[in-house]
Amino acid sequence: MYRKNETGYNEGVTKEKLIGGICMRRYIMKEKKETETIICNGCGKEICVTDGIPKEDMLSVEKRWGYFSGKDNEVHRFDLCEDCYDRLIAQFVIAPETENGE
Ligand SMILES: [Zn+2]
Repeated sequence: MYRKNETGYNEGVTKEKLIGGICMRRYIMKEKKETETIICNGCGKEICVTDGIPKEDMLSVEKRWGYFSGKDNEVHRFDLCEDCYDRLIAQFVIAPETENGE
């Protein structure tokens, strides 16, 4: 009798947790879709992304460092806003190549 009650109680808890889990997941997915942001690694500025399109253009870098580096096979990722990009390239000895889009 005691064991049966215990089992019933446990099932109840499991169902509650499962329903809670599904609700939580739906909420997160919805929130992510509507208010996703990209954070600039240079200054911490948040750029809103609406329907997958950032409101400001950004530089996104992903680099897997190879065997002949001090970071053997590490992947580094960062995003920079336009202001931080301009500050970065201002330090270059040779300016980046540029061309106008058609
Ligand atoms: Zn920035």
